[in-house]
Amino acid sequence: MHRIGFHVSVAQGFLNIFENAKVLGANCCQIFTHSPRSWAFNIVSEDVGNLFKDLYQKEDIKPVIVHDSYLPNLASIDPIMKDKSIDSIKKEFISCNRLGLEFLNIHPGAHKEQSKEKGLLEICESLNSVKDYVGKVTLLFENTSGSGSVMGSTFEELKFLLENTDFNCGITLDTCHLFTSGYDISNREALENTVSSFDKIVGLENLKLIHLNDSQGELNSKKDRHEHIGLGKIGPAGFKAIVNHDYLKNIPMIMETPVNEKRGDKENIIFLREMIEI
Ligand SMILES: [Zn+2]
Ligand SMILES: [Zn+2]
Repeated sequence: MHRIGFHVSVAQGFLNIFENAKVLGANCCQIFTHSPRSWAFNIVSEDVGNLFKDLYQKEDIKPVIVHDSYLPNLASIDPIMKDKSIDSIKKEFISCNRLGLEFLNIHPGAHKEQSKEKGLLEICESLNSVKDYVGKVTLLFENTSGSGSVMGSTFEELKFLLENTDFNCGITLDTCHLFTSGYDISNREALENTVSSFDKIVGLENLKLIHLNDSQGELNSKKDRHEHIGLGKIGPAGFKAIVNHDYLKNIPMIMETPVNEKRGDKENIIFLREMIEI
């Protein structure tokens, strides 16, 4: 059974996310533990964590993935910004452990004026400094579109991050980011080539999550603009190949698609489920 879901809101509390997911027809989901555009946030309390853990065991909404906020840059050359970023990730690890959640998804960071090599190493060093807070969590590095100095857009960079971080890590592949960073997945053959290249360089066993988004931007455009499934430049053939791929079909898939006059979440999941052949 495919695990397909959405990013859902925690605005009405952590205990409500299962209902929010079910209403959309999802059987897994992704959340922020707090407002993603704010530095000031609280760690999840032990009481809320315990209530959540009980419910999580009973509900068939699995996995629930935590996405970190948009602000941290673990490779920042500004020491204050870097400390804030490290502290923010540390708090996310504590919250994930209290909630009993296994995966924390992060965007690797931007190297800005320093070299990419230095930036990648900075990310790993920042993460290694909070190793004691990781607990049972697996950190997922999400691939990026590679605009500006943003790191993590190539399989080689993802491999470097995995190899130089001293605790359990894995990879999230976002289909929009894959496509706009130059990896074609718009048909079965192109997808096979991209998956086999990922396997050779990073290892498929490290792939823990797929962000399923179509793309407004063209192949290799470095643009990070999501589109409804099948309505973007990846198109229906690409998504049909992904959801029916022998290996990928067993990886949880989370959509971060828009909600607008064209479609909402329900329409996207129906469209996707109708393409599943196996
Ligand atoms: Zn994503
Ligand atoms: Zn994106």
